[in-house]
Amino acid sequence: MKITASAPAKINLQLSVGALRTDGYHDLVTVYQALDLRDQVSITERAEGMGVQCSVNGEFTDGVPGDETNLAVRAVKLVAEQVGVSCDLSIDIKKAIPVAAGLAGGSADAAAAFVAAAELYGYGGDLQILAAQLGSDIGFSLIGGTALGTSRGEVVVPVMSRGDYCWVIMSSTNGLSTPRVYQKLDQLRDEGSVRAPLQLQPKPELLQALLAASPTDLAKHLSNDLQPAALAIAPKLQRLLDAATDDGALASIVAGSGPTCIALAKDYEHALDVAARITATNLANRVLVAKAPAPGAELVSKDRN
Ligand code: ATP
Repeated sequence: MKITASAPAKINLQLSVGALRTDGYHDLVTVYQALDLRDQVSITERAEGMGVQCSVNGEFTDGVPGDETNLAVRAVKLVAEQVGVSCDLSIDIKKAIPVAAGLAGGSADAAAAFVAAAELYGYGGDLQILAAQLGSDIGFSLIGGTALGTSRGEVVVPVMSRGDYCWVIMSSTNGLSTPRVYQKLDQLRDEGSVRAPLQLQPKPELLQALLAASPTDLAKHLSNDLQPAALAIAPKLQRLLDAATDDGALASIVAGSGPTCIALAKDYEHALDVAARITATNLANRVLVAKAPAPGAELVSKDRN
């Protein structure tokens, strides 16, 4: 049996970062949105006792582990463990989501692997509970759409959103690890150069813009508390953010912990226009256009070998 599932990249329309908790994570309030930029994960049964083997293909493969640390491998093993069966699978990951980019590509692969493995093993339990054990963004990758994330991001509820939003996704070669960006934020707050939010809550204006299907209103209320920390580590990203707005984007912001920057356009044609202009600046190593919101992890195909 070969089962294929896909899952989306995410962006954060709001990423408010609260205090550092005793478990090492920060309390967050975030509004996630899923992009129609998807990784695919296929799982194929192998003979009993052969274990799990993982291969990574597609547009972005650098830095993706092919061993048991790969989040898709961890996800299928977790489902097999719940069901009480030996996990003997080949996993093929086709990556369209840039790696270590702040777009939750690894989380998408875990979510797709959860869906595929749950189908293969007939697992009927709550995948959200398993997702929370593996990572903060996987719960959102499962549901997709637009959602509010709280705690460390793993507690998700859907948020009503109307219309489509067209984003220009600008990849950068500046490596930014998520833990390093959070550490930098703590440092900047300790020094007093940036302040923590007074209240950790979703912005009503942002939610209203989503209800109004208004990219122009949404552009005014995008926010990312990690942005000053990402820019402190990789100051060149500011040029990319400025280039996007100079080239007509409604707003630009660092995606999650970066280094990807995202720019909101009025519509698809406008996004293509902004993307072409950014490409010509040579400031980004890859420029993509994506629509949002998109569905969460879902089955793509199921074939008997
Ligand atoms: P984070 O979830 O930490 O914010 P990110 O969205 O910035 O991460 P990812 O593409 O998820 O970036 O990659 C983060 C790291 O996770 C990679 O550098 C890699 O070592 C590890 N990783 C594990 N499994 C995967 C996977 N299936 N795809 C991509 N990266 C993976």
